[in-house]
Amino acid sequence: MVTVNQNYLKLPGSYLFSNIAKKVSAYKEANPEFKDSVISLGIGDVTQPLAPAIIDALHKSVDEMAHAETFHGYAPDLGYEFLRSAIAKNDYQSRGCDISADEIFVSDGAKSDSGNIQEIFGLDNKVAVCDPVYPVYVDTNVMAGRTGLYNKERENFDGVIYMPCKEENGFLPEIPADEVPDLIYLCFPNNPTGGAITKAALQEWVDYANKNGCVIIYDAAYEAYISEEDVPHSIYECEGARTCAIELRSFSKNAGFTGVRLGFTVVPKELVRDGVELHSLWARRHGTKFNGAPYIVQRAGEAVYSPEGKVQLKEQIAYYMRNAKTILEGLSAAGFSVSGGKNAPYIWLKTPDQMTSWEFFDYLLEKAHIVGTPGSGFGAHGEGYFRLTAFGSYENTLEAIERIKNL
Ligand code: PLP
Repeated sequence: MVTVNQNYLKLPGSYLFSNIAKKVSAYKEANPEFKDSVISLGIGDVTQPLAPAIIDALHKSVDEMAHAETFHGYAPDLGYEFLRSAIAKNDYQSRGCDISADEIFVSDGAKSDSGNIQEIFGLDNKVAVCDPVYPVYVDTNVMAGRTGLYNKERENFDGVIYMPCKEENGFLPEIPADEVPDLIYLCFPNNPTGGAITKAALQEWVDYANKNGCVIIYDAAYEAYISEEDVPHSIYECEGARTCAIELRSFSKNAGFTGVRLGFTVVPKELVRDGVELHSLWARRHGTKFNGAPYIVQRAGEAVYSPEGKVQLKEQIAYYMRNAKTILEGLSAAGFSVSGGKNAPYIWLKTPDQMTSWEFFDYLLEKAHIVGTPGSGFGAHGEGYFRLTAFGSYENTLEAIERIKNL
């Protein structure tokens, strides 16, 4: 008789964004007069079109596919050399990070990589995550069987070390006091809080990981939004990170590839645990289960690093960050307690009048026709908070903030 993976049954029901979508469509159905005025600052998807340099690269590579002499079939499963070299040079070597092209594994995005990376580690490893957190890190460890059951009272999983990110600690995780984790997931700039970590603070994590033999899985999907000097763009800016950290990156938020799909993972060759190079394990895993990101998409990724691409994408980021500033300043003037929005496209606000995250969601939807994301959807310590994104259009963002101010 077929049995199922019982670990999947530990996961509580429906996904945050489908709950939100259901609530919004129910509201629109019940209030058709407001149907067209609903503004979403909820989901973390981009809205600006692909930059011209990227479109040009796509057109050119699509044309190559039309001729036998320039046609490309299966891509090398670790990524084309032209893209891996561009990444190594622009994202790492130019910042003084000692990362080479053959330590980069090209993929279809950071969601897959952040979900799959746990496969190369034993099931007995103890996982530490921030709370609130991007849910993929926890859910994929649950599916693999690296956690206990869901604890309804605490609203999280047994057997996972949660590192609360609260107002008191500047929404930054603290090194666990009671127990040493094996795998530590860190995401900076952070989704959902929009918080960033300084190089000095990240260095403490790197030192801790090296001292205790932990591995840090560092998700830098929002690196392009960093505006402050002392915020590192990569964990490899810290001394010793090559022996304790894996870094995940995405082309989704820096270049609008959410629908195009491209990302990469960096596994330094010096990263050895249990007597094994993690680089060789990830190469084995990637080569077995992934048949390479499409040629045309990797050419589009290469264009991100072209001189024109760089200029155009800088403008795109500036567009979103103007939204972030509008939200941050507007809400702060309206008396809300807000954070984030300086090095990330997310603004994290404290719900007013002791409202729960979902109560504030309903309130904003009904009174201002604005959709955001309840902080409790990202973990127990997200309760009482709310996430707004800077990914909308400037006009909608301005309008949304006016409506909130007038509440
Ligand atoms: N990591 C974080 C922290 C994210 O917020 C997201 C998407 O929202 C991803 C990874 C997924 O990125 P990708 O589109 O490359 O799969």
